[in-house]
Amino acid sequence: MKVLVLNCGSSSLKYQLIDMENESVIAKGLCERIGIDGSKLTHKPTGKANYEVEAPMPTHTEAIQMVMDALVDLEHGVIKSTKEISAIGHRVLHGGSKFTESIVVDQSVKDAIRECFDLGPLHNPANLMGIEACEKAMPGTPNVAVFDTTFGMSMPEKAYLYAIPYEYYEKYSIRRYGFHGTSHMFVSGEVIKFLNLDPQKGKVIVCHLGNGASISASIGGKCVDTSMGLTPLEGLIMGTRSGDVDPAVLQYIMNKDHIDINEMLTILNKKSGILGLSGGISSDFRDVEAEREKGNHRADVAMQAYIYRVTKYIGAYTAAMNGVDAIAFTAGVGENDKKTRKAICENLSYLGVKIDDKANDVRGEARVISAPDSKVKVVLYPTNEELAIARETVRLTTK
Ligand code: ADP
Repeated sequence: MKVLVLNCGSSSLKYQLIDMENESVIAKGLCERIGIDGSKLTHKPTGKANYEVEAPMPTHTEAIQMVMDALVDLEHGVIKSTKEISAIGHRVLHGGSKFTESIVVDQSVKDAIRECFDLGPLHNPANLMGIEACEKAMPGTPNVAVFDTTFGMSMPEKAYLYAIPYEYYEKYSIRRYGFHGTSHMFVSGEVIKFLNLDPQKGKVIVCHLGNGASISASIGGKCVDTSMGLTPLEGLIMGTRSGDVDPAVLQYIMNKDHIDINEMLTILNKKSGILGLSGGISSDFRDVEAEREKGNHRADVAMQAYIYRVTKYIGAYTAAMNGVDAIAFTAGVGENDKKTRKAICENLSYLGVKIDDKANDVRGEARVISAPDSKVKVVLYPTNEELAIARETVRLTTK
């Protein structure tokens, strides 16, 4: 069975065609600048040369058609006909409080994704466009929506409610949803198998540390808490996002600088995090670490604050679960940055965490990085959101 996985942004579309017999990627690629001059498709068929096509893509419909053409192209293609694609899995950012699970798309699902445009204004419209473009290009092929928010739907009320008047939850569904759900679901589930933990009771903390960053606590693969909130702004310090701040800070800055709430939120989403804290060095951790090594104080403090925030959340989530069996690192920083992993773990000796420097000297490979006598196992586990979406798509279309 072959599954196409799509991740549509407002002007981009990433895809992977996965053979689910052996979970191997047959082809992947990217359409860029959809709706803008200079649209381009980059197609990477496994075992063949990359293929680039520049052609106008005014909407996602043309982009999907170009992906289909590339997949069946005589020279660069990997399948004979799009009929070989059994189903399409779509990453959808926000499912609001309606979806507690991934779901096969029908009209009511599309209506619900539209109802969540307010909650995911940049992503949900693009996600819906991708679904509608696939319906046009491949009528009859099932589409599955896999939401970033469904993992967080198993949080108990005490974890997902904000302590604001309850009427806002009732009227507007204001609650903590959490994001990176597909990654947290995948990694927590895989870590339970990898470490042979109790499938019902295994307590796992997943640190998804990329440019966006979030952390989750789960028991038996079910989320009990996660750090992002109504939007991805809450929680950890990220590349450009502030994470937790006192909301009164917003009012203070807005009054002083005479800016409106939209501008303020742009500052918190795009100009804060390690970019802001480091005094504008970069949102890329490699750049900030390079400056830190040269003795730059702002870079040093930015990294210290980042590590401190992750460590505090691990402590809080250990308390939330009354214990932890395993701590997993994943995503760009989590998979590649041994120094940051070590620095975080050094603050966890009170839990009996002991990092093994030799084992920790690794990038992008599933591996236990704690010492044999560490009371809590620490692992590096590479995330694979596309595979998680493809597995969900198979599960829901082959019942
Ligand atoms: P996203 O999907 O949120 O864009 P990724 O998971 O791809 O993010 O992670 C990107 C981040 O990973 C970049 O900010 C980069 O700084 C960081 N990163 C990648 N490699 C390294 C490394 N060797 N050391 C430190 N940070 C790294």
